Amino acid sequence: MSGLGLIVRDLRVTFDGFKAVDGVDLDIRPGDLRFLIGPNGAGKTTLVDAVTGLVKATGSVRFGGEELLGKPVHRIARMGIGRTFQTATVFEELTVLQNLDIAAGAKRGPLTMLRRRKGTPEPVTKALETTGLTDLRDRPAGVLAHGQKQWLEIGMLLVQDVKLLLLDEPVAGMSHDEREATGELLQRVSGDHTVVVIEHDMDFMRSFARSVTVLHAGKILSEGTVTEVQADAKVQEVYLGR
Ligand code: ADP
Repeated sequence: MSGLGLIVRDLRVTFDGFKAVDGVDLDIRPGDLRFLIGPNGAGKTTLVDAVTGLVKATGSVRFGGEELLGKPVHRIARMGIGRTFQTATVFEELTVLQNLDIAAGAKRGPLTMLRRRKGTPEPVTKALETTGLTDLRDRPAGVLAHGQKQWLEIGMLLVQDVKLLLLDEPVAGMSHDEREATGELLQRVSGDHTVVVIEHDMDFMRSFARSVTVLHAGKILSEGTVTEVQADAKVQEVYLGR
């Protein structure tokens, strides 16, 4: 399995005449770890909503060569696009392993979930290892620390064979150590997967981003490596407030 690239052209989303996304072009290559940053209201969430089919948009969004715009949410998800939100949505009463099993079952189809089988499926074992949750596999998800729940949610995408992960502020509310561990997790996951992270935490971006897109007022303000974006006077003026 490998990541697939995302190509966005002239993407526009309008709410009652207000241009939340105003002509965005993006080229996210397969396996990238792209950070999408920008002040509140810049249009980051709306852009991701448009890619996942949650809001109506015009323009073009191609994933692995196939057009996404106009497709319903569930078809876009089935093409291998997974998303997390700021609040992790895991089944708190079920164990880590059961959460991963259900997610894997959702991919396989409901009937396969009913069949008895021996052992843990390989993708689940792999997701436990990748997310560092192997030792916690039999704990109820509800007792996990905030960071661990986010990692479980990422694991639940991995077992679904997701090829593009769209993560909304995955380190919000995390401790320093959890942030570091999350950055390392995302670096492990990218390469084989394409990862797009909406982020506010500039320190986190500096340490882990492979490429950065800065949005401002629905448009792309700057794009490049962390160093390039940080050196961009427009970014310093508008976003970093220098
Ligand atoms: P960001 O994620 O960068 O903080 P958003 O994408 O959430 O920004 O929002 C971009 C702009 O679009 C904001 O001004 C916001 O108020 C507006 N917006 C977002 N969703 C809606 C909606 N459903 N209806 C009207 N306006 C919206």
